[in-house]
Amino acid sequence: MILILNPDTNTDSREFQSLIGHLEALKGVHHRVHQVFGEERTLTEIYLIGNTSALSERDMAELPCVQRVIRVSDAYRVLGRHRDDARTSGFQYNGVTFSQDSFHVFAGLCAVDNPTNVERMFAALQANGQQCARMGAYKPRTNPYSFQGHGKDCLPWVFELAGKYGIRVVAMEITHDRHIEEVELALAQTGNPTGVMLQIGTRNTQNFELLKHVGRQTRFPVLLKRGFGITLEESLNAAEYLASEGNSHVVFGLRGMKSSFGDPHRNFVDFAHVPTVKRMTRMPVCIDPSHSVGIRACAPDGIPDLVHATAQGVVAGANMVLVDFHPEPERALVDGAQALTLEELPWFLEDVGHAREAYEQRRRAAERQRLAREAANS
Ligand code: PEP
Ligand code: MN
Repeated sequence: MILILNPDTNTDSREFQSLIGHLEALKGVHHRVHQVFGEERTLTEIYLIGNTSALSERDMAELPCVQRVIRVSDAYRVLGRHRDDARTSGFQYNGVTFSQDSFHVFAGLCAVDNPTNVERMFAALQANGQQCARMGAYKPRTNPYSFQGHGKDCLPWVFELAGKYGIRVVAMEITHDRHIEEVELALAQTGNPTGVMLQIGTRNTQNFELLKHVGRQTRFPVLLKRGFGITLEESLNAAEYLASEGNSHVVFGLRGMKSSFGDPHRNFVDFAHVPTVKRMTRMPVCIDPSHSVGIRACAPDGIPDLVHATAQGVVAGANMVLVDFHPEPERALVDGAQALTLEELPWFLEDVGHAREAYEQRRRAAERQRLAREAANS
């Protein structure tokens, strides 16, 4: 059960203390206070865990500070959509809004290699009106002898360059809780020129200790990639780990499933799940066409499979596109085979724009259909 408190409830107030007193007296029920600090107001929710089936919604709604009571099913208590649950979703970070209605492209290097390429990438993004980017500093590699990323050493100059070109959010994978501190330190050393969205990669989707660490910090939002060999339900539970520890600013990333049935693509593209995740949870949904398709092969219509897959995800309502670019893909240290070039960036963004517009039109048509159905039934 979730108690939604009145907006701007003061947790030092006597009313709040009285509410907590009531909750502590409930047998077999634990509570956890969860605060969401928005730009305009603070929202407080209290999760009741344990033997809540005996509690009456009406009694709970009468407790001090309580605005609304939601009875949740067991799955995805914080991030899920529940019956009668009209809670707004989404969050703001460093001046950028993320929700199931927003749309952002995070183009950039799979792996940071040198300052020249990072600067060329950011400059191209700025020239094309972009505020977000992807940059890999910590690279989890299948082969222990492959390049493992520059790690913390590159962070100060990556962040400085991001700030120089007006990039507000950099999506960056971390593979160890120590990396959170390294990111914080580098941001502090450089005067916070940009923001970071911490990425949990597909190989770490079920690294529960990492999820708990990342969930316990609320400074950075999180992009959680779907595990490539587990069910959707298991991956959504992984996202819920982050939220249950206190960080519900989570974007869910689809990146394809490991299966030879996807051949000749690197993974089996799973973007049909974009609306499914939006229906089951309140998370914004990201698609990663680069790691799912994995090759630059071009269809006879002149559009690469990777760009077609992007459009398919965007037409289905994706809120974010994470995509690999490189100034010289043939010299990229990681995943050059799937990187688009800087010359292709304006065209890629144009194509994505067409797909997004098609999605908006589809939404408007669905709304007209809903209104017509309502009118017919009234
Ligand atoms: C990445 O985005 O750089 C990456 C390694 O993705 P994934 O975890 O989906 O393989
Ligand atoms: Mn990669």
